[in-house]
Amino acid sequence: MKVTEYFERANGNTLISFEVLPPLKGGSIDSIFNILDPLMEFRPPFVDVTYHREDFIYRKTNEGFFEKISMRKRPGTVVISQAIQNRYGVDTVPHLLCGGFTKEETEDALIDMAYAKINNVLALRGDARKFEGKFIPEQGGHFYAIDLIKQIKDMNEGVYIDADIKDGAKSNFCIGVAGYPEKHFEAPNLESDIKYLKQKIEAGGEYIVTQMFFDNKKYFDFVKLCRDHGIHVPIVPGLKPLTRKSQINSIPSAFFINLPADLVNEVNKAKSPEAVKQVGIEWAIAQCKELKAAKVPSLHFYTMGDSDTARKIAETIF
Ligand code: FAD
Repeated sequence: MKVTEYFERANGNTLISFEVLPPLKGGSIDSIFNILDPLMEFRPPFVDVTYHREDFIYRKTNEGFFEKISMRKRPGTVVISQAIQNRYGVDTVPHLLCGGFTKEETEDALIDMAYAKINNVLALRGDARKFEGKFIPEQGGHFYAIDLIKQIKDMNEGVYIDADIKDGAKSNFCIGVAGYPEKHFEAPNLESDIKYLKQKIEAGGEYIVTQMFFDNKKYFDFVKLCRDHGIHVPIVPGLKPLTRKSQINSIPSAFFINLPADLVNEVNKAKSPEAVKQVGIEWAIAQCKELKAAKVPSLHFYTMGDSDTARKIAETIF
């Protein structure tokens, strides 16, 4: 089923959903199942699986030099999505990027998904590779998420990049897109970011998932701004409970968001790693209670390899 159909059926009740990362190369699918097994009792209708573009790494050669090589550290998004669907009978939302794909490769990935009976996709641009100052698409690839959305939309109409295909099978993807309550870091201002977000929706985006935030006001203000600009699709709040003291610096620098002073103060006062985690969990519970009372479509947890925290929060909320 499509993600948006779940929202319609929920009839104003808040769902719960999770995002998982493919294991590092050399890992096993069991690590994904170990994350999801304890979360399935909360009956998420869908699970997102992130995509990780190849990145540059430096490796020492036998001669003692360093060579720059390109490598994908977390491959497997589409197949993992299929494995999750098979094991749990839930729908999955593989993330698909502009970065690292030519249009032809995008087409092939979409065909794989359609064959695997995957009906949802989160269409994203992706970030710059390490050691590259800005996002550079593959030659012949898409520059912005909107271009990827248009390609998916075309395939939903039976229109393929491969010009030899006439009357191609119509895929049936429900397309999600990313939104940023504290603005995307490259955008000059929130207004500009919302303008492009609206274009993504007009091009075929059917719902929005937000970047994580720790101050619900940012989310509520963002939703209002979207509505004021004529964006009326469901806006799903993305949530990442803080679990380690180091995250009060690493999260803002990695995700370009602010942490509320009260949260940072509480974390700094905590006397042990367990106490820090407890602060993060209680903060997230308070966030979730308010969001659920506001009837958001789903509480969407970025598990990032940790099901224990999401589970503790879900037990309190649902
Ligand atoms: P876009 O919507 O293309 O926007 C990128 C920037 O360009 C914005 O500043 C926007 O304002 C601007 N812009 C957009 N369109 C135009 C235009 N036509 N002209 C000029 N400017 C424009 N990354 C991964 O690598 N893998 C993942 O699995 C992944 N999952 C994510 C899930 C969520 C919910 C979120 C919020 C982010 C995720 N990301 C992921 C990160 C994402 O790839 C980055 O934030 C990326 O920098 C932007 O992607 P986007 O799809 O929002 O880009």
